Amino acid sequence: MKNETPTERTCPKCGCVYTEVPALSRTDNETLICPDCGIHEALEALGISLEEQEKIISIIHRNTAE
Ligand SMILES: [Zn+2]
Repeated sequence: MKNETPTERTCPKCGCVYTEVPALSRTDNETLICPDCGIHEALEALGISLEEQEKIISIIHRNTAE
């Protein structure tokens, strides 16, 4: 059942407009950021390089694009 209208939010981190469920920024635990930035922050916290982060995110997008 789908009765929720998507809310458009602007990510303060990358500036993109998104309608997905927001992620909570780890930097202050109150800023809502887009899911991509949420993944970035989570991977960064694990010590994963920016290059690897981009790879992981592109893989995630490839899998959800269908
Ligand atoms: Zn973002």
